[in-house]
Amino acid sequence: MAKYQSMNPWLIAAPAVAAGFASFTAYGAVHARAQLFGPTLVYSNQPDKLALTFDDGPNPAITPKLLDLLDRHQAKATFFLIGKYVRPFPALAKEIAARGHLLGNHTDSHPNLFFCGPAETRDELRRCTDAIHQAAWLEPRWFRPPFGFRSPWLGEIVARQRMQTVMWTLIPGDWRAKSLDWLIARMQPIADHARKQASPGTGARTPLRGEILCLHDGDFRQPGGDRTRTLAALEFWLPRWRDAGLEFVTITQAAGKAGEA
Ligand SMILES: [Zn+2]
Repeated sequence: MAKYQSMNPWLIAAPAVAAGFASFTAYGAVHARAQLFGPTLVYSNQPDKLALTFDDGPNPAITPKLLDLLDRHQAKATFFLIGKYVRPFPALAKEIAARGHLLGNHTDSHPNLFFCGPAETRDELRRCTDAIHQAAWLEPRWFRPPFGFRSPWLGEIVARQRMQTVMWTLIPGDWRAKSLDWLIARMQPIADHARKQASPGTGARTPLRGEILCLHDGDFRQPGGDRTRTLAALEFWLPRWRDAGLEFVTITQAAGKAGEA
């Protein structure tokens, strides 16, 4: 029963509490904009700055091609790495940083943190940071929870490890077995948003917020995951987003008082 005991007690208690409270807890655990479980960066602080983020790498099958693609478009991005993939490919993790991108922490083994107790959560974050430090001699300052799931103690653990949690404004679902056209269409809101920001005036005042886009250059279930559609969709969108007036920045560049809560 050790597994059950290490589960989130809020979840164990859920059947005993009112349905309203249970759904409130679930809202805080998964909703990208919820601040219930600690301060979280949820959008870029400037409408013309798009923060590109890539989870679940490094991945030797995809990441080098992605780095070349980003270079061709003068784009800087943030890579939320998994510790178990950093250890076998330390040179690749180091190269991502050497080419001007930011390394973030995405846990060591990609568990759903809603089911992890405090000790296991601390360990997952620490082991990922250790792997990144050994590979690239730097410590990540940004953390993204796997699946976007948070727990009541995650905020404090992230803060104690001198990191801040980052969610997203758009997660198109590039891991799904869908066509390239489908994925390209799922990323359309960024161009629409940029165009709206560029020509305000009609109707309600648009908030001065930019996007944080969540894509994947790896697959947490298996090494060497195929993300060629993600590359192709970026190949399509990067020049168009540039034409729409967007600049591609890291999470640190996107962060600021306006984007924090
Ligand atoms: Zn992930």
